Amino acid sequence: MRLFDLTSRVAIVTGGNGGIGLGMARGLLEAGARVVIAGRDRAKAEAALADLAGEHAFLEADVTSEAACRQLVAGAVARFGRLDILVNNAGSSIRKAPEAYTEAEWHAVLDANLTSTFLCCKAAYPVMKQGGGGKIINIGSMMSIFGAPYAAAYAASKGGVVQLTKSLATAWAGDGIQVNAVLPGWIDTDLTRRAREQVEGLHQHVLSRTPAGRWGMPEDMAGIAVFLASSGADFVTGAAIPVDGGFSSRA
Ligand code: NDP
Repeated sequence: MRLFDLTSRVAIVTGGNGGIGLGMARGLLEAGARVVIAGRDRAKAEAALADLAGEHAFLEADVTSEAACRQLVAGAVARFGRLDILVNNAGSSIRKAPEAYTEAEWHAVLDANLTSTFLCCKAAYPVMKQGGGGKIINIGSMMSIFGAPYAAAYAASKGGVVQLTKSLATAWAGDGIQVNAVLPGWIDTDLTRRAREQVEGLHQHVLSRTPAGRWGMPEDMAGIAVFLASSGADFVTGAAIPVDGGFSSRA
């Protein structure tokens, strides 16, 4: 359908070399976009990208660095000539009791999830503005809404992602840039495989608490990425949309 066609659009997906980012990148490629996938682990990226259809490229970037975010945007423009879509998906967690966090661990989680999102948005802004507009999709979490005893830094960072999203949406609406957040439920990825090892009972909790009765899969995230990246979402900005099998709707 034309409304959701991304032909000629260029996207960056941070952390697109696995998990949710790869699921979203697949959707964007299928809708016709050219996609730059960014991450730190080249070997993982080569394996992940081996069977990807469509026009894509991998650029190595640690998105906690402002210089690296600028280089990433410049690299995408050098490769594909423009930038229309930015998916800030890169993220990580350190699971432990709040009182056990070191200052360095706190900053590591905030940098990976929140500061990286701000830095990539800031790097993309002038290019999108010059191109007449753009779409930014920031990845939050159920921890943007809820808390957990093992997730103080992660939840603080993901709550921050939603508030950052609203502020950028209001700041850049006049430039034709829409900024939205996606809040995934529990999705089966490397990140949550580690969580299942570290948090006792998590697997059963997710199954029983999720109305859909299953874990989400990375491909469950493709549709929302295409929608928010498309002209179909031109009047959607500042929203935080759960894609969670009903998790956040259940009392
Ligand atoms: P994965 O661990 O599979 O993917 C995370 C990706 O982020 C990796 O590909 C990693 O690439 C990249 N990354 C991490 N730090 C950096 C960095 N500093 N610079 C560049 N890339 C980085 O996890 P998910 O797919 O599960 O998570 C993706 C996003 O979704 C995260 O923001 C996560 O918080 C969020 N999320 C996940 C949920 C889930 O249930 N899985 C639920 C809610 C939110 P590399 O290895 O190359 O560094």
